[in-house]
Amino acid sequence: MSVAEHDVLIVGGGMVGLTCAILLAQFAKDAARSFSIGIVETSPPAPAPPSADIELRVSALSRASRMILQFSGIWPTIAATRISPYQRMCVWQADGAAGSARSISFDAAELGEPNLGYIVENGVIRRAAWERVNALDSVSLHLASAPAELREEADALVLILENGERLRTRLLVGADGVRSWVRQALGVPTREREYGQRAIIAHVESERSHRKTAWQRFIAGGPVALLPLDDGRSSVVWSCPDAMATELMAADQRIFDQRLTLATDQVLGSLTTTTPRADFPLSLAHAERYTGRRYALIGDAAHRVHPLAGQGANLGLLDAAALAETLAAQQASLVVDPGDPVILRRYERWRKGDNLLTMGVLDGLHRLFGAGWVPAARLGGLGMGIVDRLAPVKRRLALYAMGGSGDLPVAARSS
Ligand SMILES: Cc1cc2nc3c(=O)[nH]c(=O)nc-3n(C[C@H](O)[C@H](O)[C@H](O)COP(=O)(O)OP(=O)(O)OC[C@H]3O[C@@H](n4cnc5c(N)ncnc54)[C@H](O)[C@@H]3O)c2cc1C
Repeated sequence: MSVAEHDVLIVGGGMVGLTCAILLAQFAKDAARSFSIGIVETSPPAPAPPSADIELRVSALSRASRMILQFSGIWPTIAATRISPYQRMCVWQADGAAGSARSISFDAAELGEPNLGYIVENGVIRRAAWERVNALDSVSLHLASAPAELREEADALVLILENGERLRTRLLVGADGVRSWVRQALGVPTREREYGQRAIIAHVESERSHRKTAWQRFIAGGPVALLPLDDGRSSVVWSCPDAMATELMAADQRIFDQRLTLATDQVLGSLTTTTPRADFPLSLAHAERYTGRRYALIGDAAHRVHPLAGQGANLGLLDAAALAETLAAQQASLVVDPGDPVILRRYERWRKGDNLLTMGVLDGLHRLFGAGWVPAARLGGLGMGIVDRLAPVKRRLALYAMGGSGDLPVAARSS
């Protein structure tokens, strides 16, 4: 069997892997380099569902992510399909109330911004990115079979697929999600912690308008969030302990709706589920290394965070943009050797610190509010109220949540 040769081979065509491929192809084209990119994906995106209904899986995208998708040329397709911009965010604690002294709220208008971010269907992002990679001459797709074995040669890695296909590459990028085959095949140690929680998702109709506001209430056991959708409904992300999640998943709709309405403190009045529910186990994971000789890890393959602040995809898109920029900054490296560990290490240094910071903040919030330790939670509630009245601190927090702080890749900077 012949061997396909690539400069960069990306395993995983989720939103992060596809965005990385698009950016790499774009940078190489700008530098007039001939550059071959391969993508191995075992589950290509399904076609758009025939109904116009909003799909169940959505992500809160930061403004930085929007910039990256814009830079990648896919934002117009996404925006033309469907996006739900949100203008306000309100976070409060079980023993307080939304808008009380124990809550914190952000308003885009106060920050001089048109919005704080966008709620977008994962399927819409992925299909737009998929369409784009299919139109790129320098990208080839390997969809027939999953990776089975990885071999090291003097100047390349060879990925052997289950069907025997051999793919030779100078750089292997693991973008294959939280259970990354690439990370395991390379033997990269990973620190992991199960939260013993699951996130339940569904879309709901509410008695009162969501007012384009993302609502999040911290209650014992985990946070519950209502993300505003363009059609007037809200997307629920309810993180709760495993046993409670099992019970809620099995509950009939009337009971589930009642409990959800109470959990959200009736902030939008009575809630009525309009979709099936789905649930996801929650864990914290961080690869000890993102790079090494001829490999780099990006997105959930490198790190997994709690969804309480909706940052996983946002961090992954920043990884994708930073890796592409690192390789392109060394224009010669696109041609000479994109697998050079010294160059790859720059990407790791760039992103690992930012990712660690975000993971630490999210884990700290989870412990402070979600672990059910009452004194800590009380302190947290008080802290929220204080921060809400400290304009400069609050502004920094808002910019951070919008992805507008830190060392941003060129693709993520607002023009
Ligand atoms: C309930 C919930 C809510 C969330 N909400 C938000 C949010 O609001 N905002 C946000 O930023 N993030 C959010 N996240 C996190 C976000 O969904 C993930 O961080 C993001 O999807 C990771 O993208 P990825 O491309 O790295 O990985 P994935 O989306 O997991 O994609 C990996 C791809 O690799 C493919 N693959 C896997 N194994 C192989 C293999 N062996 N060979 C070939 N291909 C393979 C898969 O088919 C898939 O296409 C949420 C997560 C959860 C669970």
